[in-house]
Amino acid sequence: MLDKKIIFWFRKDLRISDNPGLFEAAKNGIVVPIYILDEASDEEFKIGGASRWWLHYSLESLNLSLDNKLNIYFGDSKNIILKIIKDNNIQGVYWNRCYEPGRIKDDSIIKSKLKQMGIECRSFNGSLLWEPWTVLKKDKTPYKVYTPFYRYGCLQGPEPRKPLDKQREMLFSKDLLNQKCLTDLKLLSKIKWYMQMEDTWEIGEEAANKKLDIFLEDGLVDYKEGRNFPGKQKNSRLSAHLHFGEISPHQVWHSAGIKGRQSTFSKDVEHFLSEIVWREFSYYLLYHFPTLPRKNFQAKFDRFPWLNNSALLKAWQTGQTGYPIVDAGMRQLWQTGYMHNRVRMIVASFLVKNLLLHWHYGEDWFWDCLVDADLANNSASWQWVAGCGADATPYFRIFNPVTQGEKFDETGEYTRLFVPELGKLPNKFLFKPWEASEDILKMADIHLGKTYPKPIIELKKSRERALAAYHSIKHFSEEDPT
Ligand code: FAD
Repeated sequence: MLDKKIIFWFRKDLRISDNPGLFEAAKNGIVVPIYILDEASDEEFKIGGASRWWLHYSLESLNLSLDNKLNIYFGDSKNIILKIIKDNNIQGVYWNRCYEPGRIKDDSIIKSKLKQMGIECRSFNGSLLWEPWTVLKKDKTPYKVYTPFYRYGCLQGPEPRKPLDKQREMLFSKDLLNQKCLTDLKLLSKIKWYMQMEDTWEIGEEAANKKLDIFLEDGLVDYKEGRNFPGKQKNSRLSAHLHFGEISPHQVWHSAGIKGRQSTFSKDVEHFLSEIVWREFSYYLLYHFPTLPRKNFQAKFDRFPWLNNSALLKAWQTGQTGYPIVDAGMRQLWQTGYMHNRVRMIVASFLVKNLLLHWHYGEDWFWDCLVDADLANNSASWQWVAGCGADATPYFRIFNPVTQGEKFDETGEYTRLFVPELGKLPNKFLFKPWEASEDILKMADIHLGKTYPKPIIELKKSRERALAAYHSIKHFSEEDPT
């Protein structure tokens, strides 16, 4: 049996441990590990700039774990896999499933071609705790609301499988099928804009496991409360590792669960697990409603009177809105490829409600700038904030960036870090510098409109305008997004 050569196709599972497809391939033959950068299959959602940077180092780390035996390709996965099979003596192709609409389409084409050719083709679940088609309501339709999805659909279903035991030995094919190397993928841009990100992140499977251990030790206590405060180190920062599959949700779920059973802070553990299930819910929605990345889930939002204003969009993108917590978040994103969840909600609400710019603009910018840019999480979250999603926050809930800053960054530690020009401003005015007197501004070395922008929009008026815009579509009835 072990003289059988089986391709294992790495995709969003760039790890060795708890990798079901890889384990099965290794059980049944000699593994030929491949990775294909396929931008055709991802159609309009080609991998963004910050994710390309992460992917480069993630593949580098994976290749090292494989003793440099990873075969790297660029192009259309369907053609490449068929060509590898034609040119080599391959008996099987295994992979872990992806859930993006373009991938699902291509995977089924590859599967049927391989079947016709008599090549064994098997796919596995390597990245979700519950696969979307296994969780349905009693009437066999998909859930559209998170809480019943989690409580009844997930928790009352089978428990997620435990991480797989370590495989004793895996045999990887010694012959490289392809002479391409990682740099041929040109994932790193020539202009080294990512220098600061290099200081922020450690990438790869080992780093992901280390981060989980540190979080379970130090971050989990008080997670439920602490996760809301961007200045506290209470979030796991596992999102990019989970997106690229450097760690599996099963590893995270069970390690946190064990910690919960041993500890007195089970509320924090439960809350953390429920956040992991928000990720599941996003994938679930994307699977059942594949138009999620581009189409309003609630069709009445198709009539929403969005504005077009490239100057306001640019101010938002570059962290120059004059609202310090918004600017801090947007600059954190630009500098580190990450933004704290609370601040993601604040900046997103500001874009779609105060500025009245379409959520697609925000979705696209995040897509390019986030190291954890994820089609399911990003589109579900943008629709959630914009009020047009499944189980979305009500449109009339408009975050006030001043009070949000005062409440969630009380000491100003986070805001001062990313907006250093306001560093000397007393806390009382940190989130509303325009209310400070000339003397106070002068003492803090701030010249509004020169060293830091004046607010680009007035909060009260823009809030009223947003509510009026929502009112104009409120009476339209809903159509099903399917
Ligand atoms: P933790 O608080 O430690 O949570 C643990 C894990 O749970 C995360 O790593 C993530 O996998 C999952 N999770 C937590 N919150 C959410 C959520 N609201 N929705 C889905 N999964 C969640 N997350 C992405 O991974 N990719 C995105 O592209 C993305 N875009 C977003 C866009 C907007 C407008 C908003 C409001 C949120 C977005 N999120 C996205 C969700 C969330 O902000 C991040 O998952 C979280 O901030 C990642 O940090 P963490 O790993 O420290 O989270």
